[in-house]
Amino acid sequence: MQSESLSRGQLPPLEQLIACHECDLLMHHPHVGEEQKACCPRCGYELVVRRTQMRRRALALVLTALILFVPANFLPIISLSLLGQNTVDTVWSGVVGLYNSGMQAVALVVFLCSMLVPLLKLLCQLFVLLAMPRPALRPLGCYCYRVYHHVREWGMLEVYLFGILVSIVKLADMAKLHLGIGLACFIVLMLAQIWLEVTMSPHQVWDALSEEDEHACT
Ligand SMILES: [Zn+2]
Repeated sequence: MQSESLSRGQLPPLEQLIACHECDLLMHHPHVGEEQKACCPRCGYELVVRRTQMRRRALALVLTALILFVPANFLPIISLSLLGQNTVDTVWSGVVGLYNSGMQAVALVVFLCSMLVPLLKLLCQLFVLLAMPRPALRPLGCYCYRVYHHVREWGMLEVYLFGILVSIVKLADMAKLHLGIGLACFIVLMLAQIWLEVTMSPHQVWDALSEEDEHACT
């Protein structure tokens, strides 16, 4: 369904309006049913989507991602055999290796983008989901959701995975490679995070956090 744009002379209350994130068109806030979405009539951007059982589905995904976080970062991603020497690499050992070889700044960036920020994002999403049905926790939930939106661009699991795949291709002819369980956990963790972001529709989350207490998210 498409949202209805405003005609000249109308001035409804602000809470009945919505602006398109892509083209800034101001419209009446559309009323959408379960599993329906509303799109901008000018550029087609998805304005609002309402998913059924959003909180339960998102909770299952965020817990799955948190459980996978430890093996993805601390179990072997690649085992390398070269000239009789065997090395086993994990995400964490990569960070430590960069730090010990004098590249502290690079180690810090890898640690932030592949470990700390993805964990912070997951913890913020978990707290937001737990705060939704509890009015006393909703102001803190709003704060966590704002933090999540500020840091989400810095979580770069996809970039890290792409780096791993490039190194696998480059090293495949030079050494004997064995892919570890950590790589499988890393890929599933990344997919769970993408699915979680799609499931947690922002408008639905903000609506749930401001229910019965209109000043909670101001
Ligand atoms: Zn638009």
